[in-house]
Amino acid sequence: MVERLMAEGNDEHLAKVGHDAPGWIEVIAGSMFSGKSEELIRRLRRARIARLRVQVFKPEIDLRYSRDHIVSHSEMRHESSAVRTAGEILELVQPATEVVGIDEGQFFDNDLVEVANTLAARGVRVIIAGLDQDYTGRPFEPMPQLLAVAEYITKTHAICVRCGQPANYSQRIVEVEGRVVVGASETYEARCRRCFIPHADTPTRYPEEP
Ligand code: ADP
Ligand code: ZN
Repeated sequence: MVERLMAEGNDEHLAKVGHDAPGWIEVIAGSMFSGKSEELIRRLRRARIARLRVQVFKPEIDLRYSRDHIVSHSEMRHESSAVRTAGEILELVQPATEVVGIDEGQFFDNDLVEVANTLAARGVRVIIAGLDQDYTGRPFEPMPQLLAVAEYITKTHAICVRCGQPANYSQRIVEVEGRVVVGASETYEARCRRCFIPHADTPTRYPEEP
């Protein structure tokens, strides 16, 4: 039991040794490039090492790198199924599944909160990664609601590309309208509170390679 909890990589759960652990929700929230996907993939790998049955989902809107994998900016990857709605997750989770991972939680509808609660009530460990703020700095639903109901929260930080301080914001660096614009380093930059401006800004100029 101790090994199994250790393998889950979350020290908080050691407190549950000796109890028949119920399900729970873990949320990994932060800006773009903060390592949310890496952290999700790390936890999922460790769960698989512990021989837990794992299923992973991502929203169909985010097929940037792969249809059937979640992929971090550092090229870590884990198999996943693409779904259109949160409700589809509930339909696809098999009765024997013990861990459910969900990436890009902010691209799901608000039903994700109920889906996560339903799975956790069934005894599933639910791990959700997502952007907590949009490119203007506003909370990005349904992440705030998920943060409220989660047992465990991890806030990840990127590095501000302007000044090197911890970054909590995703700066859009192209002039496009709309809250949901899927992209990576050509569209967004990690910025700290001081360097962030809540509308599209010019990209940071990197020093020329010698
Ligand atoms: P997220 O899911 O939060 O967008 P990822 O897990 O996909 O983040 O990627 C994190 C990785 O992105 C880091 O390990 C690093 O290799 C890379 N990276 C690129 N730009 C930055 C930055 N400004 N700050 C931190 N990491 C960055
Ligand atoms: Zn900064």
